[in-house]
Amino acid sequence: MTRRAPRLRGVWGAIMKKPRTAVRSCHQKQASGHEGREKQVLSSSQVKPSTPDVRAGTMPKFPEAPAGLARRQKEVVLRDPVSPYHLFRDTAEVTVFRENLLSWYDREKRDLPWRRRAEGEVDPDRRAYAVWVSEVMLQQTQVATVIDYYTRWMQKWPTLQDLASASLEEVNQLWAGLGYYSRGRRLQEGAQKVVEELGGHVPHTAETLQKLLPGVGRYTAGAIASIAFGQATGVVDGNVVRVLCRVRAIGADSGSTFVSQQLWSLAQQLVDPARPGDFNQAAMELGATVCTPQHPRCSQCPVQSMCRAHQRVEREQLVASQSLPGSPDVEECAPSTGQCQLCAPPTEPWDQTLGVANFPRKASRRPPREECSATCVLEQPRALGGARILLVQRPKSGLLAGLWEFPSVTAEPSGQCQREALLRELQSWAGPLPATHLQHLGQVAHTFSHIKLTYQVYGLALEGQIPVTITPPGARWLTREEFHTAAVSTAMKKVFRVYEGQRPGTCKGSKRSQVSAPSTQRKPSPGQQVLDSFFRPHHPTDVSSLNSMAQ
Ligand code: SF4
Repeated sequence: MTRRAPRLRGVWGAIMKKPRTAVRSCHQKQASGHEGREKQVLSSSQVKPSTPDVRAGTMPKFPEAPAGLARRQKEVVLRDPVSPYHLFRDTAEVTVFRENLLSWYDREKRDLPWRRRAEGEVDPDRRAYAVWVSEVMLQQTQVATVIDYYTRWMQKWPTLQDLASASLEEVNQLWAGLGYYSRGRRLQEGAQKVVEELGGHVPHTAETLQKLLPGVGRYTAGAIASIAFGQATGVVDGNVVRVLCRVRAIGADSGSTFVSQQLWSLAQQLVDPARPGDFNQAAMELGATVCTPQHPRCSQCPVQSMCRAHQRVEREQLVASQSLPGSPDVEECAPSTGQCQLCAPPTEPWDQTLGVANFPRKASRRPPREECSATCVLEQPRALGGARILLVQRPKSGLLAGLWEFPSVTAEPSGQCQREALLRELQSWAGPLPATHLQHLGQVAHTFSHIKLTYQVYGLALEGQIPVTITPPGARWLTREEFHTAAVSTAMKKVFRVYEGQRPGTCKGSKRSQVSAPSTQRKPSPGQQVLDSFFRPHHPTDVSSLNSMAQ
Protein backbone atom coordinates (compact mmCIF):
# COMPACT_ATOMS: atom_id res chain seq x y z
CA MET A 1 0.00 0.00 0.00
CA THR A 2 2.80 2.44 0.69
CA ARG A 3 3.72 2.50 -2.96
CA ARG A 4 0.25 3.61 -3.89
CA ALA A 5 0.15 6.63 -1.63
CA PRO A 6 2.04 8.98 -4.01
CA ARG A 7 -0.24 8.00 -6.90
CA LEU A 8 -3.36 8.68 -4.90
CA ARG A 9 -2.02 12.04 -3.89
CA GLY A 10 -1.28 12.82 -7.49
CA VAL A 11 -4.66 11.69 -8.74
CA TRP A 12 -6.56 13.53 -6.08
CA GLY A 13 -4.32 16.50 -6.57
CA ALA A 14 -5.18 16.53 -10.23
CA ILE A 15 -8.86 16.48 -9.40
CA MET A 16 -8.84 19.05 -6.69
CA LYS A 17 -6.39 21.60 -7.97
CA LYS A 18 -7.58 21.85 -11.59
CA PRO A 19 -4.96 24.30 -12.83
CA ARG A 20 -6.68 26.45 -15.39
CA THR A 21 -5.30 29.90 -14.86
CA ALA A 22 -2.81 31.66 -17.03
CA VAL A 23 0.88 31.23 -16.29
CA ARG A 24 0.68 29.17 -13.19
CA SER A 25 3.63 28.74 -11.00
CA CYS A 26 3.92 25.78 -8.73
CA HIS A 27 6.10 27.48 -6.15
CA GLN A 28 3.15 29.35 -4.71
CA LYS A 29 1.28 26.15 -4.12
CA GLN A 30 4.33 24.73 -2.50
CA ALA A 31 5.18 27.58 -0.23
CA SER A 32 4.96 25.16 2.64
CA GLY A 33 6.85 22.51 0.77
CA HIS A 34 9.38 21.68 3.42
CA GLU A 35 6.79 21.45 6.09
CA GLY A 36 4.75 19.40 3.70
CA ARG A 37 7.48 16.83 3.24
CA GLU A 38 6.92 15.72 6.79
CA LYS A 39 3.21 15.77 6.32
CA GLN A 40 3.14 13.96 3.05
CA VAL A 41 4.64 10.89 4.63
CA LEU A 42 1.17 9.78 5.45
CA SER A 43 1.52 6.32 6.85
CA SER A 44 -0.04 3.53 4.93
CA SER A 45 -2.20 2.68 7.90
CA GLN A 46 -3.75 6.12 7.72
CA VAL A 47 -4.66 5.73 4.10
CA LYS A 48 -5.35 2.06 3.97
CA PRO A 49 -8.93 1.79 5.28
CA SER A 50 -10.24 3.93 2.46
CA THR A 51 -7.70 3.22 -0.20
CA PRO A 52 -9.29 1.39 -3.09
CA ASP A 53 -7.34 -0.95 -5.30
CA VAL A 54 -7.13 0.60 -8.71
CA ARG A 55 -4.82 -2.07 -10.05
CA ALA A 56 -7.18 -4.86 -9.25
CA GLY A 57 -9.91 -2.96 -11.05
CA THR A 58 -12.12 -2.64 -8.00
CA MET A 59 -12.61 1.09 -8.33
CA PRO A 60 -13.24 3.54 -11.10
CA LYS A 61 -10.21 5.52 -12.17
CA PHE A 62 -11.42 8.78 -10.59
CA PRO A 63 -13.59 7.96 -7.62
CA GLU A 64 -15.41 10.33 -5.41
CA ALA A 65 -13.49 10.77 -2.20
CA PRO A 66 -15.13 9.90 1.08
CA ALA A 67 -15.33 13.04 3.20
CA GLY A 68 -12.74 12.07 5.79
CA LEU A 69 -10.29 10.80 3.26
CA ALA A 70 -10.88 13.83 1.06
CA ARG A 71 -9.91 16.11 3.90
CA ARG A 72 -6.75 14.15 4.55
CA GLN A 73 -5.93 13.93 0.88
CA LYS A 74 -6.45 17.63 0.42
CA GLU A 75 -4.10 18.30 3.26
CA VAL A 76 -1.54 16.10 1.58
CA VAL A 77 -2.08 17.65 -1.83
CA LEU A 78 -1.55 21.14 -0.56
CA ARG A 79 1.88 20.12 0.54
CA ASP A 80 2.60 17.74 -2.28
CA PRO A 81 5.99 18.26 -3.93
CA VAL A 82 4.44 17.51 -7.32
CA SER A 83 2.70 20.27 -9.17
CA PRO A 84 -0.55 19.38 -10.97
CA TYR A 85 1.23 20.80 -13.99
CA HIS A 86 2.90 17.39 -14.33
CA LEU A 87 -0.28 15.39 -13.89
CA PHE A 88 -3.42 14.72 -15.88
CA ARG A 89 -6.22 16.98 -14.80
CA ASP A 90 -9.30 14.85 -15.02
CA THR A 91 -11.02 11.92 -16.69
CA ALA A 92 -11.76 13.98 -19.78
CA GLU A 93 -8.10 14.68 -20.39
CA VAL A 94 -7.20 11.05 -19.80
CA THR A 95 -9.93 9.90 -22.16
CA VAL A 96 -8.72 12.15 -24.95
CA PHE A 97 -5.18 10.92 -24.46
CA ARG A 98 -6.31 7.28 -24.68
CA GLU A 99 -8.50 7.83 -27.71
CA ASN A 100 -5.87 9.76 -29.65
CA LEU A 101 -3.17 7.25 -28.88
CA LEU A 102 -5.23 4.15 -29.59
CA SER A 103 -6.69 5.38 -32.87
CA TRP A 104 -3.18 6.28 -34.02
CA TYR A 105 -1.98 2.81 -32.97
CA ASP A 106 -4.79 1.13 -34.87
CA ARG A 107 -3.68 2.97 -38.00
CA GLU A 108 0.07 2.90 -37.65
CA LYS A 109 1.17 -0.10 -35.58
CA ARG A 110 3.99 -2.16 -36.99
CA ASP A 111 3.36 -5.68 -38.11
CA LEU A 112 5.60 -7.66 -35.76
CA PRO A 113 5.77 -11.44 -35.39
CA TRP A 114 5.01 -11.47 -31.66
CA ARG A 115 1.95 -9.29 -32.19
CA ARG A 116 0.68 -11.55 -34.92
CA ARG A 117 1.28 -14.61 -32.80
CA ALA A 118 -0.35 -13.19 -29.66
CA GLU A 119 -3.36 -11.80 -31.52
CA GLY A 120 -4.06 -15.09 -33.28
CA GLU A 121 -3.55 -17.35 -30.27
CA VAL A 122 -6.62 -18.48 -28.35
CA ASP A 123 -4.81 -20.53 -25.74
CA PRO A 124 -3.96 -18.09 -22.91
CA ASP A 125 -0.78 -19.88 -21.86
CA ARG A 126 0.58 -20.02 -25.38
CA ARG A 127 -0.37 -16.38 -25.83
CA ALA A 128 1.40 -15.43 -22.62
CA TYR A 129 4.47 -17.38 -23.69
CA ALA A 130 4.56 -15.57 -27.05
CA VAL A 131 4.43 -12.21 -25.29
CA TRP A 132 6.87 -13.23 -22.58
CA VAL A 133 9.58 -14.27 -25.04
CA SER A 134 9.23 -11.07 -27.04
CA GLU A 135 9.29 -8.83 -23.99
CA VAL A 136 12.42 -10.46 -22.60
CA MET A 137 14.20 -10.28 -25.95
CA LEU A 138 13.21 -6.66 -26.46
CA GLN A 139 14.81 -5.55 -23.21
CA GLN A 140 17.93 -3.61 -24.19
CA THR A 141 17.63 -4.79 -27.79
CA GLN A 142 16.17 -3.17 -30.87
CA VAL A 143 13.11 -4.53 -32.64
CA ALA A 144 14.96 -5.07 -35.92
CA THR A 145 17.48 -7.31 -34.17
CA VAL A 146 14.91 -9.22 -32.17
CA ILE A 147 12.68 -10.23 -35.09
CA ASP A 148 15.05 -12.89 -36.42
CA TYR A 149 15.90 -14.25 -32.96
CA TYR A 150 12.23 -14.38 -32.00
CA THR A 151 11.27 -16.21 -35.17
CA ARG A 152 13.98 -18.84 -34.74
CA TRP A 153 13.20 -19.22 -31.03
CA MET A 154 9.50 -19.83 -31.61
CA GLN A 155 10.23 -22.28 -34.39
CA LYS A 156 12.53 -24.23 -32.12
CA TRP A 157 10.43 -23.99 -28.94
CA PRO A 158 6.83 -23.16 -29.89
CA THR A 159 5.50 -23.89 -26.39
CA LEU A 160 6.57 -23.46 -22.79
CA GLN A 161 6.87 -27.23 -22.55
CA ASP A 162 9.34 -27.27 -25.44
CA LEU A 163 11.47 -24.57 -23.84
CA ALA A 164 11.34 -26.23 -20.43
CA SER A 165 12.85 -29.40 -21.87
CA ALA A 166 15.66 -27.61 -23.75
CA SER A 167 19.19 -27.55 -22.40
CA LEU A 168 20.79 -24.34 -21.21
CA GLU A 169 23.42 -24.94 -23.85
CA GLU A 170 20.82 -24.84 -26.60
CA VAL A 171 19.33 -21.68 -25.13
CA ASN A 172 22.71 -19.97 -25.01
CA GLN A 173 23.42 -21.11 -28.54
CA LEU A 174 20.27 -19.54 -29.92
CA TRP A 175 20.72 -16.43 -27.78
CA ALA A 176 24.33 -15.92 -28.93
CA GLY A 177 24.79 -12.39 -30.23
CA LEU A 178 21.68 -10.99 -28.54
CA GLY A 179 23.58 -9.90 -25.44
CA TYR A 180 22.60 -9.90 -21.77
CA TYR A 181 22.74 -13.66 -21.75
CA SER A 182 21.18 -14.12 -18.34
CA ARG A 183 17.86 -13.15 -19.95
CA GLY A 184 17.70 -16.37 -21.93
CA ARG A 185 18.66 -18.45 -18.93
CA ARG A 186 16.01 -16.85 -16.73
CA LEU A 187 13.42 -17.28 -19.44
CA GLN A 188 14.11 -20.98 -19.55
CA GLU A 189 14.09 -21.21 -15.75
CA GLY A 190 10.70 -19.50 -15.82
CA ALA A 191 9.37 -21.98 -18.37
CA GLN A 192 10.58 -24.86 -16.21
CA LYS A 193 8.86 -23.39 -13.18
CA VAL A 194 5.56 -23.01 -15.05
CA VAL A 195 5.73 -26.57 -16.34
CA GLU A 196 7.00 -28.27 -13.22
CA GLU A 197 5.35 -26.27 -10.43
CA LEU A 198 2.42 -24.34 -11.86
CA GLY A 199 0.69 -27.06 -13.84
CA GLY A 200 1.73 -25.55 -17.15
CA HIS A 201 -0.29 -22.38 -16.56
CA VAL A 202 1.24 -18.92 -16.64
CA PRO A 203 0.10 -16.67 -13.76
CA HIS A 204 -2.52 -14.17 -14.95
CA THR A 205 -1.79 -11.02 -13.00
CA ALA A 206 1.18 -8.69 -12.90
CA GLU A 207 1.56 -9.29 -9.19
CA THR A 208 1.69 -13.09 -9.42
CA LEU A 209 3.84 -13.06 -12.53
CA GLN A 210 6.43 -10.92 -10.79
CA LYS A 211 6.21 -12.92 -7.61
CA LEU A 212 6.38 -16.41 -9.07
CA LEU A 213 8.53 -16.27 -12.18
CA PRO A 214 12.31 -15.85 -12.12
CA GLY A 215 13.58 -12.95 -14.19
CA VAL A 216 10.14 -11.36 -14.53
CA GLY A 217 10.29 -7.84 -13.15
CA ARG A 218 7.63 -5.20 -12.83
CA TYR A 219 7.73 -4.16 -16.47
CA THR A 220 7.65 -7.67 -17.98
CA ALA A 221 4.93 -8.75 -15.58
CA GLY A 222 2.77 -5.77 -16.53
CA ALA A 223 3.34 -6.33 -20.23
CA ILE A 224 2.37 -10.01 -20.09
CA ALA A 225 -0.62 -9.38 -17.83
CA SER A 226 -2.00 -6.57 -19.97
CA ILE A 227 -1.24 -7.94 -23.44
CA ALA A 228 -1.93 -11.62 -22.88
CA PHE A 229 -4.55 -11.52 -20.12
CA GLY A 230 -6.14 -8.09 -20.46
CA GLN A 231 -5.31 -6.86 -16.97
CA ALA A 232 -5.65 -3.07 -16.70
CA THR A 233 -2.15 -2.44 -15.50
CA GLY A 234 0.21 0.20 -16.83
CA VAL A 235 3.81 -0.39 -17.83
CA VAL A 236 6.87 1.82 -17.94
CA ASP A 237 9.79 1.03 -20.18
CA GLY A 238 12.36 3.38 -21.71
CA ASN A 239 9.99 4.48 -24.46
CA VAL A 240 7.18 5.18 -22.03
CA VAL A 241 9.54 7.12 -19.78
CA ARG A 242 10.41 9.36 -22.71
CA VAL A 243 6.80 9.88 -23.80
CA LEU A 244 5.49 10.61 -20.31
CA CYS A 245 8.38 12.88 -19.38
CA ARG A 246 7.73 14.91 -22.51
CA VAL A 247 3.96 14.91 -22.36
CA ARG A 248 4.06 16.10 -18.74
CA ALA A 249 7.33 18.08 -18.92
CA ILE A 250 9.06 16.02 -16.28
CA GLY A 251 12.64 17.24 -16.20
CA ALA A 252 13.83 15.72 -12.94
CA ASP A 253 16.17 12.75 -13.11
CA SER A 254 14.04 10.01 -14.68
CA GLY A 255 16.23 7.37 -13.09
CA SER A 256 15.44 8.48 -9.55
CA THR A 257 13.11 6.44 -7.38
CA PHE A 258 10.74 9.34 -6.89
CA VAL A 259 10.33 10.11 -10.59
CA SER A 260 10.03 6.43 -11.38
CA GLN A 261 7.16 6.11 -8.91
CA GLN A 262 5.42 9.08 -10.47
CA LEU A 263 5.80 7.62 -13.95
CA TRP A 264 4.34 4.28 -12.89
CA SER A 265 1.45 6.16 -11.31
CA LEU A 266 0.85 8.11 -14.51
CA ALA A 267 1.00 4.91 -16.57
CA GLN A 268 -1.51 3.28 -14.26
CA GLN A 269 -3.79 6.28 -14.47
CA LEU A 270 -3.64 6.38 -18.26
CA VAL A 271 -3.95 2.71 -19.21
CA ASP A 272 -7.23 2.03 -20.95
CA PRO A 273 -9.19 -0.61 -19.00
CA ALA A 274 -11.00 -1.63 -22.17
CA ARG A 275 -7.79 -2.23 -24.17
CA PRO A 276 -4.89 -2.35 -21.71
CA GLY A 277 -2.57 -4.43 -23.87
CA ASP A 278 -3.09 -2.28 -26.93
CA PHE A 279 -2.73 0.90 -24.90
CA ASN A 280 0.59 -0.18 -23.41
CA GLN A 281 1.89 -1.27 -26.78
CA ALA A 282 0.71 2.00 -28.29
CA ALA A 283 2.58 4.06 -25.71
CA MET A 284 5.74 2.07 -26.35
CA GLU A 285 5.22 2.24 -30.10
CA LEU A 286 4.86 6.01 -29.94
CA GLY A 287 8.17 6.27 -28.12
CA ALA A 288 9.88 3.91 -30.54
CA THR A 289 8.66 5.41 -33.80
CA VAL A 290 7.52 9.03 -33.24
CA CYS A 291 8.68 10.38 -29.90
CA THR A 292 12.21 9.13 -30.50
CA PRO A 293 15.20 10.19 -28.40
CA GLN A 294 16.97 12.45 -30.89
CA HIS A 295 14.56 13.45 -33.63
CA PRO A 296 10.97 13.29 -32.42
CA ARG A 297 8.36 13.85 -35.13
CA CYS A 298 6.02 16.07 -33.19
CA SER A 299 4.05 17.09 -36.27
CA GLN A 300 2.88 13.47 -36.63
CA CYS A 301 2.23 12.86 -32.98
CA PRO A 302 -1.30 11.91 -31.91
CA VAL A 303 -0.91 13.54 -28.49
CA GLN A 304 0.84 16.71 -29.54
CA SER A 305 -2.04 18.91 -28.39
CA MET A 306 -1.56 17.61 -24.85
CA CYS A 307 2.21 17.66 -24.80
CA ARG A 308 3.73 20.09 -22.36
CA ALA A 309 7.21 19.68 -23.84
CA HIS A 310 5.84 20.77 -27.20
CA GLN A 311 4.04 23.69 -25.58
CA ARG A 312 7.24 24.68 -23.82
CA VAL A 313 9.17 24.68 -27.09
CA GLU A 314 6.58 26.93 -28.71
CA ARG A 315 6.68 29.30 -25.77
CA GLU A 316 10.46 29.43 -25.72
CA GLN A 317 10.46 30.18 -29.43
CA LEU A 318 7.99 32.99 -28.93
CA VAL A 319 10.03 34.44 -26.12
CA ALA A 320 13.19 34.13 -28.16
CA SER A 321 11.62 35.94 -31.08
CA GLN A 322 10.50 38.67 -28.61
CA SER A 323 7.01 38.52 -29.95
CA LEU A 324 5.57 37.51 -26.62
CA PRO A 325 4.10 40.50 -24.82
CA GLY A 326 3.62 40.09 -21.10
CA SER A 327 2.54 36.78 -19.66
CA PRO A 328 1.43 34.12 -22.07
CA ASP A 329 -1.80 32.28 -21.49
CA VAL A 330 -0.17 28.95 -20.95
CA GLU A 331 0.48 26.86 -17.95
CA GLU A 332 3.88 26.31 -16.59
CA CYS A 333 5.59 25.04 -13.55
CA ALA A 334 8.28 27.04 -11.82
CA PRO A 335 11.50 25.24 -12.46
CA SER A 336 13.63 28.04 -11.12
CA THR A 337 12.31 27.65 -7.61
CA GLY A 338 13.88 24.25 -7.25
CA GLN A 339 10.91 23.12 -5.18
CA CYS A 340 9.07 20.97 -7.68
CA GLN A 341 10.50 17.49 -7.59
CA LEU A 342 9.46 16.74 -11.16
CA CYS A 343 11.02 19.82 -12.73
CA ALA A 344 14.62 19.96 -13.85
CA PRO A 345 16.86 21.38 -11.15
CA PRO A 346 17.75 25.07 -11.52
CA THR A 347 21.31 24.03 -12.30
CA GLU A 348 20.08 22.52 -15.56
CA PRO A 349 18.59 25.36 -17.59
CA TRP A 350 16.53 24.93 -20.73
CA ASP A 351 18.65 24.15 -23.79
CA GLN A 352 17.14 25.83 -26.82
CA THR A 353 18.97 23.54 -29.23
CA LEU A 354 17.43 20.40 -27.77
CA GLY A 355 13.77 21.37 -28.03
CA VAL A 356 11.48 18.67 -26.64
CA ALA A 357 14.55 16.50 -26.13
CA ASN A 358 15.22 18.57 -23.00
CA PHE A 359 12.99 15.83 -21.57
CA PRO A 360 13.67 13.35 -20.14
CA ARG A 361 16.79 14.04 -18.19
CA LYS A 362 19.01 11.35 -16.78
CA ALA A 363 21.66 11.91 -14.22
CA SER A 364 25.04 11.22 -15.75
CA ARG A 365 25.85 7.57 -15.33
CA ARG A 366 29.12 6.30 -14.06
CA PRO A 367 31.22 5.14 -16.97
CA PRO A 368 31.72 1.37 -17.18
CA ARG A 369 34.77 0.15 -15.35
CA GLU A 370 37.67 -0.82 -17.55
CA GLU A 371 39.14 -4.30 -17.52
CA CYS A 372 41.66 -6.09 -19.66
CA SER A 373 41.90 -9.70 -20.75
CA ALA A 374 44.43 -11.63 -22.82
CA THR A 375 42.88 -14.26 -25.05
CA CYS A 376 44.25 -16.63 -27.65
CA VAL A 377 42.87 -18.37 -30.70
CA LEU A 378 44.63 -21.73 -30.59
CA GLU A 379 44.24 -23.50 -33.91
CA GLN A 380 45.04 -26.87 -35.43
CA PRO A 381 45.04 -25.84 -39.09
CA ARG A 382 45.61 -29.35 -40.37
CA ALA A 383 43.32 -31.38 -38.21
CA LEU A 384 41.41 -34.10 -40.00
CA GLY A 385 38.02 -32.86 -41.13
CA GLY A 386 39.21 -29.29 -41.29
CA ALA A 387 40.96 -26.76 -39.14
CA ARG A 388 39.84 -26.64 -35.52
CA ILE A 389 40.01 -24.01 -32.84
CA LEU A 390 39.96 -24.48 -29.09
CA LEU A 391 37.11 -23.10 -27.03
CA VAL A 392 36.54 -23.44 -23.31
CA GLN A 393 33.37 -22.95 -21.34
CA ARG A 394 32.89 -20.08 -18.90
CA PRO A 395 31.65 -20.72 -15.36
CA LYS A 396 27.95 -21.39 -14.84
CA SER A 397 27.39 -18.05 -13.14
CA GLY A 398 28.55 -14.49 -13.59
CA LEU A 399 29.24 -12.57 -16.77
CA LEU A 400 28.48 -14.58 -19.94
CA ALA A 401 27.70 -17.62 -17.79
CA GLY A 402 28.05 -20.94 -19.60
CA LEU A 403 29.14 -19.45 -22.91
CA TRP A 404 32.17 -20.64 -24.85
CA GLU A 405 35.26 -18.51 -25.37
CA PHE A 406 38.88 -18.70 -26.40
CA PRO A 407 41.18 -19.47 -23.45
CA SER A 408 41.65 -16.19 -21.62
CA VAL A 409 43.29 -14.70 -18.56
CA THR A 410 42.68 -11.47 -16.75
CA ALA A 411 45.50 -9.11 -17.62
CA GLU A 412 46.93 -5.88 -16.36
CA PRO A 413 46.44 -2.95 -18.74
CA SER A 414 50.20 -2.59 -18.75
CA GLY A 415 50.47 -6.02 -20.37
CA GLN A 416 53.11 -7.20 -17.96
CA CYS A 417 53.27 -10.98 -17.65
CA GLN A 418 50.12 -11.49 -19.73
CA ARG A 419 51.94 -13.52 -22.34
CA GLU A 420 53.32 -15.96 -19.79
CA ALA A 421 50.00 -16.22 -17.96
CA LEU A 422 48.17 -16.83 -21.20
CA LEU A 423 50.60 -19.53 -22.26
CA ARG A 424 50.13 -21.31 -18.94
CA GLU A 425 46.36 -21.13 -19.40
CA LEU A 426 46.61 -22.56 -22.90
CA GLN A 427 48.83 -25.38 -21.75
CA SER A 428 46.41 -26.26 -18.96
CA TRP A 429 43.87 -27.04 -21.70
CA ALA A 430 46.02 -28.30 -24.55
CA GLY A 431 49.25 -29.63 -23.07
CA PRO A 432 52.78 -28.43 -23.95
CA LEU A 433 52.87 -25.72 -26.61
CA PRO A 434 55.62 -23.90 -28.51
CA ALA A 435 55.86 -20.54 -26.73
CA THR A 436 57.59 -18.91 -29.66
CA HIS A 437 54.53 -19.42 -31.84
CA LEU A 438 52.33 -17.29 -29.60
CA GLN A 439 51.78 -14.04 -31.47
CA HIS A 440 50.15 -10.84 -30.36
CA LEU A 441 47.73 -9.82 -33.13
CA GLY A 442 45.91 -6.76 -31.89
CA GLN A 443 43.16 -5.78 -29.50
CA VAL A 444 39.40 -5.61 -29.36
CA ALA A 445 37.24 -3.52 -27.06
CA HIS A 446 33.74 -4.63 -26.11
CA THR A 447 31.43 -2.92 -23.68
CA PHE A 448 29.14 -5.04 -21.58
CA SER A 449 26.46 -3.39 -19.44
CA HIS A 450 28.89 -2.17 -16.78
CA ILE A 451 32.34 -3.25 -17.99
CA LYS A 452 34.45 -2.06 -20.86
CA LEU A 453 36.63 -5.04 -21.58
CA THR A 454 39.68 -4.80 -23.79
CA TYR A 455 40.89 -8.12 -25.17
CA GLN A 456 44.53 -8.44 -26.14
CA VAL A 457 44.25 -10.92 -28.97
CA TYR A 458 46.87 -13.60 -29.49
CA GLY A 459 47.06 -16.40 -32.00
CA LEU A 460 48.89 -19.70 -31.99
CA ALA A 461 48.73 -22.11 -34.90
CA LEU A 462 49.99 -25.57 -34.06
CA GLU A 463 51.09 -26.26 -37.60
CA GLY A 464 50.82 -29.95 -36.90
CA GLN A 465 53.95 -30.06 -34.77
CA ILE A 466 52.59 -30.68 -31.31
CA PRO A 467 50.10 -33.49 -30.73
CA VAL A 468 47.26 -32.40 -28.51
CA THR A 469 46.66 -34.54 -25.49
CA ILE A 470 43.21 -35.58 -24.31
CA THR A 471 40.93 -32.57 -24.16
CA PRO A 472 39.76 -31.97 -20.59
CA PRO A 473 36.08 -31.46 -19.73
CA GLY A 474 34.96 -27.92 -20.49
CA ALA A 475 37.06 -27.62 -23.64
CA ARG A 476 36.20 -28.42 -27.26
CA TRP A 477 37.87 -28.18 -30.63
CA LEU A 478 35.41 -26.65 -33.11
CA THR A 479 35.51 -26.15 -36.84
CA ARG A 480 34.96 -22.61 -38.03
CA GLU A 481 31.43 -23.44 -39.08
CA GLU A 482 30.69 -24.85 -35.64
CA PHE A 483 32.24 -21.81 -34.02
CA HIS A 484 29.91 -19.48 -35.87
CA THR A 485 26.80 -21.30 -34.66
CA ALA A 486 28.01 -22.11 -31.14
CA ALA A 487 27.06 -20.33 -27.92
CA VAL A 488 29.79 -17.70 -28.11
CA SER A 489 29.47 -14.02 -27.35
CA THR A 490 29.74 -11.17 -29.83
CA ALA A 491 33.02 -10.21 -28.17
CA MET A 492 34.52 -13.59 -29.07
CA LYS A 493 33.39 -13.20 -32.66
CA LYS A 494 35.20 -9.87 -32.75
CA VAL A 495 38.31 -11.57 -31.37
CA PHE A 496 38.10 -14.23 -34.04
CA ARG A 497 37.83 -11.61 -36.77
CA VAL A 498 41.09 -10.08 -35.56
CA TYR A 499 42.70 -13.51 -35.68
CA GLU A 500 41.43 -14.23 -39.18
CA GLY A 501 42.51 -10.83 -40.42
CA GLN A 502 46.02 -11.15 -38.98
CA ARG A 503 47.12 -14.72 -39.50
CA PRO A 504 49.70 -15.23 -42.22
CA GLY A 505 48.31 -15.49 -45.73
CA THR A 506 44.90 -14.17 -44.74
CA CYS A 507 43.47 -11.23 -46.57
CA LYS A 508 41.17 -9.07 -44.42
CA GLY A 509 38.78 -8.65 -47.26
CA SER A 510 38.33 -12.36 -47.79
CA LYS A 511 37.48 -13.61 -44.36
CA ARG A 512 34.37 -15.33 -45.52
CA SER A 513 36.07 -17.36 -48.18
CA GLN A 514 38.78 -18.32 -45.72
CA VAL A 515 36.20 -19.46 -43.24
CA SER A 516 34.11 -21.42 -45.64
CA ALA A 517 36.90 -23.04 -47.66
CA PRO A 518 35.94 -26.70 -47.79
CA SER A 519 38.39 -28.85 -45.93
CA THR A 520 38.11 -31.63 -48.48
CA GLN A 521 40.10 -29.52 -50.91
CA ARG A 522 43.11 -29.86 -48.71
CA LYS A 523 45.29 -32.88 -49.39
CA PRO A 524 47.58 -33.57 -46.45
CA SER A 525 50.58 -35.74 -47.00
CA PRO A 526 50.54 -39.31 -45.57
CA GLY A 527 52.92 -38.19 -42.85
CA GLN A 528 50.69 -35.27 -42.03
CA GLN A 529 47.69 -37.60 -41.83
CA VAL A 530 49.46 -39.67 -39.20
CA LEU A 531 50.24 -36.53 -37.24
CA ASP A 532 46.69 -35.30 -37.67
CA SER A 533 45.34 -38.38 -35.95
CA PHE A 534 46.86 -37.00 -32.75
CA PHE A 535 44.93 -33.79 -33.20
CA ARG A 536 41.52 -35.32 -33.05
CA PRO A 537 40.43 -36.05 -29.50
CA HIS A 538 36.76 -35.40 -30.32
CA HIS A 539 35.20 -34.66 -33.66
CA PRO A 540 31.48 -34.53 -33.17
CA THR A 541 29.63 -33.53 -36.27
CA ASP A 542 27.43 -30.85 -34.80
CA VAL A 543 27.64 -28.34 -32.09
CA SER A 544 24.59 -29.66 -30.29
CA SER A 545 26.29 -32.91 -29.58
CA LEU A 546 29.39 -31.06 -28.53
CA ASN A 547 27.29 -29.08 -26.19
CA SER A 548 25.42 -31.99 -24.73
CA MET A 549 28.70 -33.73 -24.09
CA ALA A 550 29.88 -30.74 -22.20
CA GLN A 551 26.96 -30.81 -19.78
S1 SF4 B 1 4.49 16.14 -29.32
FE1 SF4 B 1 6.61 15.58 -29.70
S2 SF4 B 1 7.58 15.50 -27.70
FE2 SF4 B 1 5.37 15.50 -27.37
S3 SF4 B 1 4.86 13.33 -27.17
FE3 SF4 B 1 4.55 13.91 -29.30
S4 SF4 B 1 6.50 13.43 -30.33
FE4 SF4 B 1 6.87 13.43 -28.13
